[in-house]
Amino acid sequence: MINKRGLTVVLSGPAGSGKDTLLNEFFRLGGAAKTISATTRAPREGERDGVDYYFMSREEFEEQIANGRLLEYTEYCGNYYGTLKSEVDRICAAGLDVILKIEVEGGRAVKALLPDALLVFLLPPSAEELARRLRGRGTETEEAVCARLARAAEEIVCGRDYDYLLINDEVEKAAQELAEIIRTEKKRVSRNKEFFNEVTSHVKAVVGK
Ligand code: 5GP
Repeated sequence: MINKRGLTVVLSGPAGSGKDTLLNEFFRLGGAAKTISATTRAPREGERDGVDYYFMSREEFEEQIANGRLLEYTEYCGNYYGTLKSEVDRICAAGLDVILKIEVEGGRAVKALLPDALLVFLLPPSAEELARRLRGRGTETEEAVCARLARAAEEIVCGRDYDYLLINDEVEKAAQELAEIIRTEKKRVSRNKEFFNEVTSHVKAVVGK
């Protein structure tokens, strides 16, 4: 069978690129699951612990680092964010594709640890749309919006090192495109070595009879 293993997919993009809406739509299509990250950021209105993030204090987060429980972590706009190894294991064990919704430094760290990971960079259709979406959220102070816009510019530069660019113009279309990218990637010859080995030994066995 072609590529039985799930893929580790990193989805990055500046704040305001629409990662959450895209992923909600993508998960409706099924077949993959998102890791729940740990963070020291305060919950936004409506966010739940263990659903949106594992919210923790700096002390608790630093304890996770010291105990080697994080696959990667970074400090972003004054808060820690990180992927727990246990989250990736939980999803892989279920045979699903793992989606890590993380910023670019984390993406780079994952690629270094797991070279097979697929890196997808999400952008809104224009810079004007990005600024509009950031302000439109209305949950952040002006200072926080400015910090995120400055960080967005830095992140976009790093997007050049990613494998795929995905434009979030219309969310249903972008979710389908993400599914298509993953399907296509799974057909890469380099990702199907086991299949080739199986077929080769089968053919050899038949010929040898
Ligand atoms: P937010 O505060 O808007 O939820 O997230 C801020 C940024 O942190 C986003 O770019 C998000 O993708 C990133 N992020 C969330 N979880 C993680 C994580 O586990 N690791 C890393 N490196 N970045 C994360």
